[in-house]
Amino acid sequence: MGEPWLLTPGPLSTSFAVKSAMLTDLGSWDSDFRAMTAEVRARLVALLGEGGEAYTCVPMQGSGSYCVEAMLGTLVPRAGRALVLANGAYGARAAQMLRVMGRAVVVLDKGDYLPPRGAEVAAILAQDPAISHVVAIHCETSSGILNPLPEIAAAVAGAGRRLLIDSMSAFGAVPVLPAEIAFDALVSSANKCIEGVPGFGFVLVRRAALAEATGNAHALCLDIAAQSAEFERSGQWRFTPPTHAVAAFLQALREHEAEGGVAARGARYAANRDRLVAGMRQMGFETLLSDAWLSPVITTFFCPADPAFVFADFYDRMKAKGFILYPGKLTQVDSFRIGTIGRLDTGVIDAVLAAVRDTLAETGVRGAAPSGAALGERARFLAEVAA
Ligand SMILES: *Cc1c(COP(=O)(O)O)cnc(C)c1O
Repeated sequence: MGEPWLLTPGPLSTSFAVKSAMLTDLGSWDSDFRAMTAEVRARLVALLGEGGEAYTCVPMQGSGSYCVEAMLGTLVPRAGRALVLANGAYGARAAQMLRVMGRAVVVLDKGDYLPPRGAEVAAILAQDPAISHVVAIHCETSSGILNPLPEIAAAVAGAGRRLLIDSMSAFGAVPVLPAEIAFDALVSSANKCIEGVPGFGFVLVRRAALAEATGNAHALCLDIAAQSAEFERSGQWRFTPPTHAVAAFLQALREHEAEGGVAARGARYAANRDRLVAGMRQMGFETLLSDAWLSPVITTFFCPADPAFVFADFYDRMKAKGFILYPGKLTQVDSFRIGTIGRLDTGVIDAVLAAVRDTLAETGVRGAAPSGAALGERARFLAEVAA
């Protein structure tokens, strides 16, 4: 057996050509590498389509969280006030970052099961005119929920405030188009839906918003205004760039285009998700979320109630069969996640389903239905919200 399939939301399984692109050592100062950086930046702006000319792309070293922190610290002024729309770990992390850097924060916390809706965002903004920026998580990867970005963006624009988007796990597979929604910046990283390897992320930011942001940043390194100024001046990264990861990412961007861009990438992931969810439900598993909010990126399943099911053992046995799963990240109920992004197609998903079936049989798990307690907890939460 070769390397295992990563059914995780990044790092994820990459193509052979993406891995091969890392076999060359590149000088960070050299014109060949500068040309690669320029092509990466231009290709990312091009994914915005019509209206993209108003934006620039600022790559930033580090994992996705470093880039979220750079976006927030640079674009939310020191005297600003941010509303974070949270329904999971990444929203909570964005709020925590703002607190650490001393920005005023208001949080709308929707728990694990529900999206923030446009109407409630509009109501909060109407009540609190001091809120300057709204931070939205596009796909909240901790549950897999795809938040309704268009209605959120409309509410923010309607109130004349600025929108910052963590589209980490969605950009490249779910459209974010300036022609359709108003936003100041979005952030994503190399190792998510574009299918590169970890090492850096990037902020796509409206040039006019960036021009106002000089001197805002709380940190020398995590300053996208300063980073952008250096790209404009010399075509170079300010500090040592992850050269191999950039080379891999450029190859990944070319493959993204060859596949048919955002629409084709999103369609492949959605087909993976549909096949997975149908097959898992056939075995008795239940998804945490209702169909309306399932993203094509990652799906959360309740752990089966059968006491013979032990997630750590299930994980090890799936790994021995060639599949790396992802633990749950919920506060209330036992769950696990299966990602459907990366170099995967429905043939791989069929093999995953066969491995799940075999693993349940080997371990004597008779049914995959979740516990009444888990379902009760969800029902209680939803009823409370509806009331
Ligand atoms: C992956 C991810 C991040 C960044 O996580 P890192 O581990 O720092 O790369 C941020 N937000 C979302 C929604 C993500 O999926």
